[in-house]
Amino acid sequence: MTQQTTRTLQQVPASHYRARFLSIEALERKSNPIRSLFPLEQTPGLLSLLAGKPNPTTFPIASLSLSIRDPKSEIRNIQDEKTESDEAADLVDIKLSKAELEEALQYAEEGGVPKLMGWFSTLQEKVHGRKCKLYNQGTACEGWKVTIGVGSQDVLYKALKSILNDGDSVLVESPVYPGVLTVLHSSHSPQIEMQTDENGVSVSHLRSILESWPAGKPKPKVFYTVPTGSNPSGATATTERKIEVLKLAQEHDFLILEDDPYYYLYYADTPQPPSYFALEATLAEREGLRVGRVVRFDSLSKILSAGMRIGWASGPEPIIDAMVRCTASINLQTPTLTQMITYTLFSSPSWGFEGFLLHASQVAAFYRRKCDIFETYMQKYLGAGNGNDGGALAKWEKPKAGMFYWFKIIVDPSSVSSDGDSEALIRTKAFQNGVLALPGTVFLPGSEPRKTGYVRASFSLLHASEVEEALKRLKKTILEARKE
Ligand code: PMP
Repeated sequence: MTQQTTRTLQQVPASHYRARFLSIEALERKSNPIRSLFPLEQTPGLLSLLAGKPNPTTFPIASLSLSIRDPKSEIRNIQDEKTESDEAADLVDIKLSKAELEEALQYAEEGGVPKLMGWFSTLQEKVHGRKCKLYNQGTACEGWKVTIGVGSQDVLYKALKSILNDGDSVLVESPVYPGVLTVLHSSHSPQIEMQTDENGVSVSHLRSILESWPAGKPKPKVFYTVPTGSNPSGATATTERKIEVLKLAQEHDFLILEDDPYYYLYYADTPQPPSYFALEATLAEREGLRVGRVVRFDSLSKILSAGMRIGWASGPEPIIDAMVRCTASINLQTPTLTQMITYTLFSSPSWGFEGFLLHASQVAAFYRRKCDIFETYMQKYLGAGNGNDGGALAKWEKPKAGMFYWFKIIVDPSSVSSDGDSEALIRTKAFQNGVLALPGTVFLPGSEPRKTGYVRASFSLLHASEVEEALKRLKKTILEARKE
């Protein structure tokens, strides 16, 4: 028998989540009394009169088949031309068996379809090196598990609702994904803004905020971060910064919500930094830190389908359990149908883990090409030499991952370092000139409206010639504003 290599990591004790991290709502929330008995239905020989599951023979959907691209075949559209992408690609047909279809059309467990949760757990083990308690029994237990949601937004919402009480302060990067601000707004959570640059959060700023936190005021329970190809800034946090943040999390007793939907869209030449989720285990092993401070959010939206709405969270059991109780009362479960389609695809012979990772790397290569094209035209139309003073019309850092450019427009070359204001220029004038982007104000945390000269441009969809035209129009807009 092969010997399993195990590592014993110190964990944050379960009681600490109840005392420090779980919201009153999460502590008071009851489990669904019927659904919590669902697993018992699997007992051999048992006759179940338990659940109000409809009889599947009454459902009219008789078969479900999919044509899927073999991940070994190239993504055809990468030439950035308007070619019919998949038509000629190697397609493989898969069909859900009768039993799979029956399962897909039926209620399932609140946390997710177990075999898909198992698949995600093993993926986390392969990608982030963390063994999961629930689905890899017999191997090392590291006290974390997975739950599946309707996109990562869903699991993010449930995590925040399971942790924050009304008025709890939250540390957020600035600029920040606005989808999280709407949740924080509804829980009246003061958003403590953390400075960032192209390498992620400023650790010195984070440290100074925590060290000067007023005595008697409850310290933040949560730091929210988008560490890879951030939306909107395109920034990717370095390993060194992540390590420092993890140490601060232990020292000041907070959780890191690692929202990482662009993790698989890393395309820089430098090696990809490990996730917070991976690093916390490395630090636990090396320096005796405790694991259990990272709740990680993954999404299939950017690699499989955004409309399928599949995301998953991996994190400490008490937090995931609280999120699952949230699911039970909000929407009972994530649709079984989309989970089963996903699982069928992932477990098909041409896919599997290798196929998934191969596909993801092709998607990253696709966005790299898009990014390179965008950079070329940014340089050409907004870079040095385009201003009437011979300078640039914008400043930016080329992203290492993801699908966003975050750039600051320079309307007044004499005050490049001041904040600037892109709001009217982008929302009105650029739009009138036929180009739509997002003014940076949308991504600023806090309750007070503020100005910024930054703009977010997404480069995922436009073809090269369209990018060129869009940036020409933006150049025209900035030059017009300079004359005013
Ligand atoms: N987090 C971030 C940072 C995002 O950019 C997005 C999608 N734009 C989400 C979460 C939500 O993604 P999903 O489609 O998985 O719900």
